[in-house]
Amino acid sequence: MPWPQNKPPQRDGDAAAGIDVTDGFERFSQRNDIFTRAFWDERVKSKHTARFFASYRMEAAPRRGDGFTQRDFALRNAAWLISDVISSRRAQEGLREGFQAAIRPDTPVAKDALAVDDPAKMSAEVKRIARFFGADLCGITDLDERWLYTARVDARDMSEAPHDLPEGLTSVIVLGHEMDKDLVAAYPSALAGAATGREYSHEAAIVMQLAAYIRNLGYEAVASMNDTGLVIPYAVKAGLGEYARNQMVITPEFGPRLRFSKIFTNLPLAHDLPQPLGVKAFCGICTKCADACPVKALPYGPPSTETANVSAIKGVRKWTSDAEKCFSFWAKMASDCAICMRVCPFNRDYSKRRNRLWLKLALGPLRKLALRLAGKHGQRRKPSAWWDGA
Ligand code: SF4
Ligand code: SF4
Repeated sequence: MPWPQNKPPQRDGDAAAGIDVTDGFERFSQRNDIFTRAFWDERVKSKHTARFFASYRMEAAPRRGDGFTQRDFALRNAAWLISDVISSRRAQEGLREGFQAAIRPDTPVAKDALAVDDPAKMSAEVKRIARFFGADLCGITDLDERWLYTARVDARDMSEAPHDLPEGLTSVIVLGHEMDKDLVAAYPSALAGAATGREYSHEAAIVMQLAAYIRNLGYEAVASMNDTGLVIPYAVKAGLGEYARNQMVITPEFGPRLRFSKIFTNLPLAHDLPQPLGVKAFCGICTKCADACPVKALPYGPPSTETANVSAIKGVRKWTSDAEKCFSFWAKMASDCAICMRVCPFNRDYSKRRNRLWLKLALGPLRKLALRLAGKHGQRRKPSAWWDGA
């Protein structure tokens, strides 16, 4: 049933954790995401975008200098390898799996379905198996169709094509994958892009293995990365963290320093609830990410429904970036940028007690003190220092 007939009741916690849907809401078409537009929209396509994509195949390394040498690109591209193998294996059919189409199953659904009497117990089991396969976080929410793309993209001509998801899916299992903190400290650079690539490769394996486990239990499971739907609202609804000014989900475990993947399933599962943490209030007094953005793609002021171009979802009151400006910087640099992740005061190593104490301050009424204490947190480390083992 198409949205909005099946719209689930809006929980108070959705809005408090950063999902504030207004009457002007429209589901998002993936054809309009900035990476897809880079292939069909003259407003986004440029010589820089062509070099950006070529650099991931070692066909162009347009910049030289610290963080952009051959070995920096070599490491970044090697880190992406497993993800690339999955996303290109059915490219001739127009299926760019994990990015513009869900990952196709490699195992059938078992004939006999395991009886599930206790969905809460089953959720706990799924979380344990997710950890076993290597996920760092796992939360579970309902399949809220507002966050499904209106269509997938046929990678042969970038036209819209149906998702062809199985009928009757009810839940979304959201997985979090921590990015390497030493590499994130070296953003922006091709070297730091290895932190992103490594997690895409990890998450490809993890969602495929967890989906196979569920299918072996006799239930549908669709492994998904950036395809099929917007993972951020699902991560927020699944209680993994809270939406922030830098367009990321801030988690208590890793701050913004992680990526998310997901699995759509009809396995009977209990759902988690959004957990408003106090991030929105902190972002209300902090603009470090917006200040640090080299192309001023991040917004100042409170959350709003304003959008700069078609690459933003309409009708959600939130902090929304100008994706065209952001991607133009990536393209010129021939690598991804996460300065706004690096400088965020929540980007810390929470295995350290002093950082856990800081988090308590930041999420409570003493947030101004926490912001002052953050000082010049998140300074860039030289990529060459990473190679030197410093
Ligand atoms: S990724 Fe870089 S360019 Fe994009 S919003 Fe963040 S800081 Fe700005
Ligand atoms: S840098 Fe500050 S404003 Fe930006 S996401 Fe982090 S806490 Fe929020």
